[in-house]
Amino acid sequence: MVDAAVLSLAQPVPPLLNGCPICAATVGTLVRMRYIDQQCSHLPQAENPFTGLEILVCGSCGFGYATPAVDVARLERFYRHQYRAPGSVHALGSSGPWRARLDPRAVAQVLLAKLFRTFHTGESFLDIGPGQGASLDALAQVCPGLQASVIEPDESAAQWLRQRAGVQVIAQSLDPRKPCAGSPPGNTFELILMSHVLEHVNGVDAVAWLMQVKPLLSDDGIMICEVPHCDLRQHAERRDNDAPHLGFFSQDSLARVFQQAGLTVKFLETCGPTYADWWSNRCNGTTRATPSAPRRWLVNTGKALLSCLPTKMADELVTRIRPERCAELLGSEELCYGGDRTCLRIVAAR
Ligand SMILES: [Zn+2]
Repeated sequence: MVDAAVLSLAQPVPPLLNGCPICAATVGTLVRMRYIDQQCSHLPQAENPFTGLEILVCGSCGFGYATPAVDVARLERFYRHQYRAPGSVHALGSSGPWRARLDPRAVAQVLLAKLFRTFHTGESFLDIGPGQGASLDALAQVCPGLQASVIEPDESAAQWLRQRAGVQVIAQSLDPRKPCAGSPPGNTFELILMSHVLEHVNGVDAVAWLMQVKPLLSDDGIMICEVPHCDLRQHAERRDNDAPHLGFFSQDSLARVFQQAGLTVKFLETCGPTYADWWSNRCNGTTRATPSAPRRWLVNTGKALLSCLPTKMADELVTRIRPERCAELLGSEELCYGGDRTCLRIVAAR
């Protein structure tokens, strides 16, 4: 566990800064903090874009951003080749990506979208950064009939999603200076999901990046975005890793980022486990419990076998093996909102 996360507040903020890039508070409101890299520090320095960073936090709006901004080409190489590589905590597994069926977070996100719009068969859905594709299963169950596309930089994950989930994979750069070239002009989506993606963009580029996404949203479409709730004015001492995140959002600063990108915020609330529970689990190591080798082998083999089956058949099997899944889903804190929780979920429209 890393302590003393906050650097000396007496250190001067580097020159050439004009102040907070989000709320335009003066440079005097910015506080420097140490950037904690527990996740990528094993990489050779040349392949780790997160070495030598620190964080600037705005005392006024709570927006935090890693500085200096990471070269976008370097960042893209990291997400193409390192983020999901074997050995990484984000690896998709040697047996191929495993889609968590009816993942509570994904179900909660799609349910939230349905509160703000009625979706019709044939309308289109775009998941930016789908990872193992949990949203696709949630969509199929909660909001069926939508045509799904994804933007996924990791080629192995993209290939799996294309083949197994049958979705269109759109080539897209994380570079905010480049337009969303992978999508045909005029091609828009009624529902766009960005779950735990925006915090991976250089903080100073968050607004520009959202402005690149905005044209993909149909005029009456809904965008759901979720990020970690990391207001470093109050959560600085309850964190043990920052990498590979580059933007850190308070509730206020997340709203401002969307508004500055020209989007209308329809809903914004904290969600997920409470900070108290989450941090207590982190400190007690309960979230990092490593299963025994035989159990790990059994689970991985089971996942590999299920991955080979048609989705419906695999679902039926999993339901028979774990009939309590429904209770787990309904009781999940991913469906809870309000208070000091670990994530922020936002609904936005044009
Ligand atoms: Zn600010």
